[in-house]
Amino acid sequence: MTPLARSFMVKALGIPSRQICRSQRNTNYRSLGLRHAHGHATEYLQNNDLDLTDSQRTVREAISKICANYPDDYWLKLEENKTFPADFHQALATAGWLGICMPQEYGGSELGIAEAAIMMQTIAESGGGMAAASSVHMNIFGLEPVVKFGKEGQKRRWLEPLIQGKERACFGVTEPNTGLNTLQLQSQAHKSESGDHYVLSGQKIWISTAQHAHKILILVRTTPLDSVQKPSQGLSLFYTDLDRSAVEITEIPKMGRAAVDTNTLFFDNWRVSAEDLIGAENDGFKLILHGMNAERILIAAEALGLGYAALRKAAIYAKDRHVFGRAIGQNQAIQHPLSVSWMELEAARMMVYHAAKMYDCGYGGGEYANSAKYLAAEAAFRACERAVMTHGGMGYAKEYHVERYLREAFIPRIAPVSREMICNYIGERVLGLPKSY
Ligand SMILES: Cc1cc2nc3c(=O)[nH]c(=O)nc-3n(C[C@H](O)[C@H](O)[C@H](O)COP(=O)(O)OP(=O)(O)OC[C@H]3O[C@@H](n4cnc5c(N)ncnc54)[C@H](O)[C@@H]3O)c2cc1C
Repeated sequence: MTPLARSFMVKALGIPSRQICRSQRNTNYRSLGLRHAHGHATEYLQNNDLDLTDSQRTVREAISKICANYPDDYWLKLEENKTFPADFHQALATAGWLGICMPQEYGGSELGIAEAAIMMQTIAESGGGMAAASSVHMNIFGLEPVVKFGKEGQKRRWLEPLIQGKERACFGVTEPNTGLNTLQLQSQAHKSESGDHYVLSGQKIWISTAQHAHKILILVRTTPLDSVQKPSQGLSLFYTDLDRSAVEITEIPKMGRAAVDTNTLFFDNWRVSAEDLIGAENDGFKLILHGMNAERILIAAEALGLGYAALRKAAIYAKDRHVFGRAIGQNQAIQHPLSVSWMELEAARMMVYHAAKMYDCGYGGGEYANSAKYLAAEAAFRACERAVMTHGGMGYAKEYHVERYLREAFIPRIAPVSREMICNYIGERVLGLPKSY
């Protein structure tokens, strides 16, 4: 272990140096009951973080410390019991992390997407995977339209409780009949004659955390499609109470990430105060576009974390497991795919942090954020699959966690935008090819 790594563990993680010596001898961090997101191959994956800024490093170290209290078995239990990680969410809130990108005047830290990305990568990488990341994902950047376009009173009303962890929010865009074709969404809102409220009716699908959320950021049509010049017009964005007396919320049984629910929403005659409209009526799509690149970068970072977690487990197992008289990792058929996964994840990491840096510098194009999401999701998926295969039969056992990772690794490939739509975007916007959809 390098002196740098040792001093990091002593200082940042508070691990007594005598324990480091012991772990060095045994290469068994699990016996310490601790988890650190990155390290050297047998314990944690190497990642020479020289390219991290000081503030990214600080975030990573602090988040690693919190996540050390939530080991893999914690996430496995929540998965089995389908229990929302409320205490994990609260721990991050209490330590002030839910406001990482929010303005300081409302209790946030006002850091950039580059810092938020390292936070989300570290959370997923801790073994919490997409369940851990999704439990706070919406808080991190979801309310960017409010930050940018909300009125002072709205910011005070909404941002502070979200940052403090007193309120949780979900995000309602996808609809069953229109899918990725967001501009065709069919849910509607009509303004009352008095002008003091809107009446919403329609349906949403795949709305994560709605079982536990107090609030929803929801996109609906306020002007019919046939009355607007472009389909991107006529949509409006509300942030409002998720009123269970007006909204029927039904959980969708799904493949993975059982700790964090995903739901269908049906609503009819749902009265929403006009005070809950963000920005101008009919401008909702423009507002929501604003946060899209950031969201792709964050999802990409979460995928990275999941991929590294899987690869770390695979490397440990490949070294420990002996068959035919030697470690299975001594066989190139096992070793090489893992090596390739490390390279793929690192390459994706470069793209993720490049995209984040560009975003924080004010770049508005979507090609890097989309590419980061694509590459990280694919690299993570392959790493998770290889981790399962490296474990042989044990890869299929819940106890070894990699099957949970693999099930979760589909999520960043599907959401919030599919691989195909990213390729459509690059084909059209970067390569100048005819629009294909
Ligand atoms: C676990 C999970 C959590 C989610 N959480 C949320 C949430 O909190 N809030 C929310 O609003 N949504 C959420 N979503 C929804 C998610 O964003 C959508 O599933 C995703 O955008 C894909 O939309 P769809 O499922 O309707 O696919 P569809 O639009 O039906 O597409 C199906 C397939 O066809 C392909 N396809 C469609 N059109 C084309 C084309 N022109 N060219 C090439 N391929 C095409 C797509 O790429 C995709 O592979 C979540 C989804 C999942 C799985």
